[in-house]
Amino acid sequence: MKPPPFDYVAPTSVEEVLDLLSDAQDGASVLAGGQSLMPLLNMRFARPELIIDINRVDGLDGIVVSDDAVSVGATVRLATIESHPEIASALPVLASATTFVAHPQIRARTTIGGTLSHADPSAELPTVAVALNATINLRSKTGSRSLSAEEFFESTFTTLKEPDELLVSVDFPREPGMSFVYDEISRRQGDFPFAGLCLGVSVRDGVVANARAAAAGVSEIPQRLPALEAALVGRTIAEATEDAANAAADEVNPPTDIHGTAAYRRGLLRSLVRRNLSALDQEQK
Ligand SMILES: Cc1cc2nc3c(=O)[nH]c(=O)nc-3n(C[C@H](O)[C@H](O)[C@H](O)COP(=O)(O)OP(=O)(O)OC[C@H]3O[C@@H](n4cnc5c(N)ncnc54)[C@H](O)[C@@H]3O)c2cc1C
Repeated sequence: MKPPPFDYVAPTSVEEVLDLLSDAQDGASVLAGGQSLMPLLNMRFARPELIIDINRVDGLDGIVVSDDAVSVGATVRLATIESHPEIASALPVLASATTFVAHPQIRARTTIGGTLSHADPSAELPTVAVALNATINLRSKTGSRSLSAEEFFESTFTTLKEPDELLVSVDFPREPGMSFVYDEISRRQGDFPFAGLCLGVSVRDGVVANARAAAAGVSEIPQRLPALEAALVGRTIAEATEDAANAAADEVNPPTDIHGTAAYRRGLLRSLVRRNLSALDQEQK
């Protein structure tokens, strides 16, 4: 199918984008990588009167790696994150999780701002953002605000971003001593996962001192897993693994759909907890 008619603009500054978004009053869509928006237009699920192409906007494509955080501009492509040497050494899970998203051709277009704004509950990077406690930075004509990733995702394909707001960047904190892994189970390499898990721990004297986790595909948002985290803290990874796997399976409420039942997805999450903890345990030795 072909998209419905729309006007197209390609501004070059953030201020122009914010003016256009403010004037359009919910009638505009931002075009970033286009890998979700274009299919939505072609299927006529989205009918914006105006498309604001942000690919030529100055200042949205920076990557800054500091001691505290990895800050990524909204139009940075996933392919860039995947192959960025400083990201690979500062926050390896960000680069490794990116390789699970679709295929290289799609990652060459998909932007970090696009995948976070689109808010697919099975998507990898939103899940990593929640697990890492990322901060999402938004701007509108009237000001700026920052939300934690956990606050940002509201429900399936819905975030707290207002129609006049542009996602400008995301800051992924670097927590000293924390080590994260991402893994998922999908039908084929590159498909959206049935379930995905980003899990991080810090271990002191052989015992888990801190844990953070979020799952993809098991809820209507990328879901933080506090019961799993609590099951790990104060114990060795080996002795806590089964309790943590069961805690995670109990605290999610996955959908039953054509791809599998809720019980099946809970089982996948249990397996992922075991797999990720085993990988983290190996890393500590
Ligand atoms: C075949 C195929 C397989 C895929 N597989 C996966 C997968 O396995 N995992 C996965 O996570 N994704 C997958 N995707 C989705 C892909 O990653 C999308 O590109 C992504 O969801 C959206 O990113 P984008 O940059 O293309 O955004 P766009 O498609 O341009 O935009 C998506 C939405 O976000 C809004 N938006 C974009 N940028 C901003 C911004 N800076 N501020 C405010 N609003 C903004 C747009 O208005 C639109 O509503 C797949 C896509 C395809 C076509």
